[in-house]
Amino acid sequence: MSAESLLALDRNHLIHPVAAWRGHEQRGVTVLETGHDGVWLRDNTGHELLDAFAGLWCVNVGYGRDSVVEAAAAQMRKLPYATGYFSFGSEPAIRLAAKLAELAPGTLNHSYLTLGGSEAVDAAIRLIVQYYNATGRPQKKHFIAVERGYHGSSSVGSGLTALPAFHRGFDVPLPNQHYIPSTYPYRNPLGGDDAAIIAESVAALRAKVAEIGADQVAAFFCEPVQGSGGVVVPPKGWLKAMREACRELDILFVADEVITGFGRTGPMFACEAEGVAPDLMTLAKGLTSGYVPMGALMMSDAVYAAIADGTPAGVTVGHGATYSGHPVAAAVALEVIRLYEEEGILANGQAMEPVFAAGLQAMLDHPLVGDVRHRGLLGAIELVSDKAAKRAFDPALGLADRLFRTGYRNGLIFRSFGDHILGFAPALCFGPDHFEQLFARLKRTLDEVLDAADVRRAL
Ligand code: PMP
Repeated sequence: MSAESLLALDRNHLIHPVAAWRGHEQRGVTVLETGHDGVWLRDNTGHELLDAFAGLWCVNVGYGRDSVVEAAAAQMRKLPYATGYFSFGSEPAIRLAAKLAELAPGTLNHSYLTLGGSEAVDAAIRLIVQYYNATGRPQKKHFIAVERGYHGSSSVGSGLTALPAFHRGFDVPLPNQHYIPSTYPYRNPLGGDDAAIIAESVAALRAKVAEIGADQVAAFFCEPVQGSGGVVVPPKGWLKAMREACRELDILFVADEVITGFGRTGPMFACEAEGVAPDLMTLAKGLTSGYVPMGALMMSDAVYAAIADGTPAGVTVGHGATYSGHPVAAAVALEVIRLYEEEGILANGQAMEPVFAAGLQAMLDHPLVGDVRHRGLLGAIELVSDKAAKRAFDPALGLADRLFRTGYRNGLIFRSFGDHILGFAPALCFGPDHFEQLFARLKRTLDEVLDAADVRRAL
C-alpha cells in the first residue's frame, strides 16, 4: 500500500494512544516498517533509525530475535488459545507463573497474567479492595501514589497516575486517590542530600496517612524509577525506606516494575538492588519484550492467602479476562526470560551501564543540558536555558518536538517528556558501537537545534 494511502487511512480511522487528536491528524502518521538486527528500525520511506527507546521501553531483548518468533509460532500451531476459566490452563501459562515466582523477590509466588501494565495495575487495585474486604477491614480503601508517577490509563489506575494529561477531562483522581511529592532530586531544594530527600518522602507518606486517617489507607504505589514522569531517579535507599514505612503504617507496598522490571535498571527487578520485597508487584513491557502483549500482577503468599481464606469455599473471586494467561504470550515470555538469563542479555545490559552513563555524563558539557540522570539502561537529560538558575525553556519554542524531529532526521529515536526532558531506554543488547552512534547522533541533534536563532536568543 502506498505511503499516501496509509496516511489517509490512519487519519480517518485509527485513534492513537495518548495523542492530540487534531494535532495528529495534521502531522500524520510515521509508519515503521521493520525492526531488525537488535536495535534498528526502518520506516516506510527506507529511513534507518537507531532505536534508543526500545519501542516504548519494552523491546529489551532487541528486534529480530528468531527464537522468540519460533516460540510464538510453535505455540500457535500447537494450541493458539486456552482459557484459564473453568479450571482449564495451558503449560506455558503455568510454567511462566512458576518462573516468575522463582525470579521475583520475597514471597511473590502468585501471578495473575494480564494483557499489559494498565490491566496489571487495575487488577492490583481491585484485588487490594478484595483483600481488605476479605480480611474484615473494609474501611481501608484509600490509595497513595507519587506525583509525576505513571500507573497506566485504566479508568481507576489513571487516578494513581499523577500526570495532568491523563486526568484532563477524565474526572480522576477519585476521592480516595492521593499523592505525595516526587523526589525529583534535580529540582528538589534538598538536591544532593540523599538522606534528607529520603527522610522527606517518608515524612510526607506518614503525614498523608495521618491526614487521611491511619486506619483508612489501603496501599502505597510507586515506581522504583519514575518513567513517564521524566525518568526521575530517586536516591539509592529510597525504595527500601518507603517499603519499611509502609510496613510500619500497616499499608500494602506495591512496586510498579512495568518499566524497571526485566533488567532495565540492571538486576532482573529494581527491587532486588535494595533488598526490597513488595507485597504486590506489577510487570509488563520487558516480560515479553513487546513481541506480544502481556503483563502480570504478582502477590505475596500473605496477600494471596488472605484473599483465598477470606473468601467462602466455592465463592468466586470475580476478576478475569478472556486472554489472561494467553498461551502464546506466555510461551513468548518464557523464551524472552530464557534470553535474559541464558543468552547473556541481562548481563550485557549490566556491562553496558558504565558506557551509557559516561555518554550521558558527557552531554552535561552541552550548553542546553542542565541535568543527566540514569540507573541501569534507563536515563534522561533535562534541558535548560540557564544552567545556574535551572531555568526551563519557554514552551512556545516547542523544543522537545524540534529535538525529536531533528533526531529522527539524524537517524535516532528517543522520547521527549513535556518540553524539556529527553528519555533513553536502549535495548539491553546495545553494544559499545551502538552507544557511540547514539551519543554522536544526539550531540549532532542538540547542536543543530541550538543553532536555531530563536533558541540562541533564549539562552
Ligand atoms: N506502569 C508503569 C510504571 C508504566 O510505565 C506503564 C506504561 N508505560 C504502565 C504501568 C501501563 O502499562 P501499559 O501501557 O502496558 O498498559
